[in-house]
Amino acid sequence: MSPPRLLLVEDEPGLVMTLTDRLTAEGYDVESATDAPTALETATTGKFDAILLDVMLPGGNGFDICRTVRQRGVQTPILMLTARGQVVDRVVGLKLGADDYLVKPFEMAELLARIEALLRRSATPPQPATEVARFGDITVDFRRAEVTKSGTLVELSAREFKLLRYFIDHAGAALSRDELLNEVWGYNAMPTTRTVDVHVAWLRQKLEDNPRHPQFILTVHGLGYKFVG
Ligand code: CA
Repeated sequence: MSPPRLLLVEDEPGLVMTLTDRLTAEGYDVESATDAPTALETATTGKFDAILLDVMLPGGNGFDICRTVRQRGVQTPILMLTARGQVVDRVVGLKLGADDYLVKPFEMAELLARIEALLRRSATPPQPATEVARFGDITVDFRRAEVTKSGTLVELSAREFKLLRYFIDHAGAALSRDELLNEVWGYNAMPTTRTVDVHVAWLRQKLEDNPRHPQFILTVHGLGYKFVG
């Protein structure tokens, strides 16, 4: 299997070098572009698994590049690297078709986690054919949107059901609060990660035999949650 290919769009030479070294060491095949016209050209003609896109660039900005590559039909996942980090930038970036964003300066571990999440998401086939999932004494019927525990109907809100579905579809994977927030709530809602914790607590109350010692929706310390079915 060939290594995942990344396009790094960044104009700061030091950062380009550091990121390229580290990403290469992590097994990625990295190509870089240091100005907007080159970035646009490379992003539309090359074949990449993900694009890391700085916002402030010589000759243009990341938002315009993002919009243009999407208009040209490029579906490659895009992670915006923004130095500004205001909410407005995040929202603008995502509306223009970016998949995620990271505020500079960022930890390398955080960048690597985001890239992995992007690649995992884009590799996920469109909704699996699973119509019924069973774990413990719980049965989830996706078609009828019904959950039963030991044969008794459990009332879930639409959001709880969506969250449960996401957990089941990603069973065994450690899911960060941010990922859950983005995937289950969507970028436009902008609730806080605390919202995720609250909904997980509700799900545990309804599904777990002992919500204090959950056996299905586990806590991954410092990150988020993991569903084990
Ligand atoms: Ca820059």
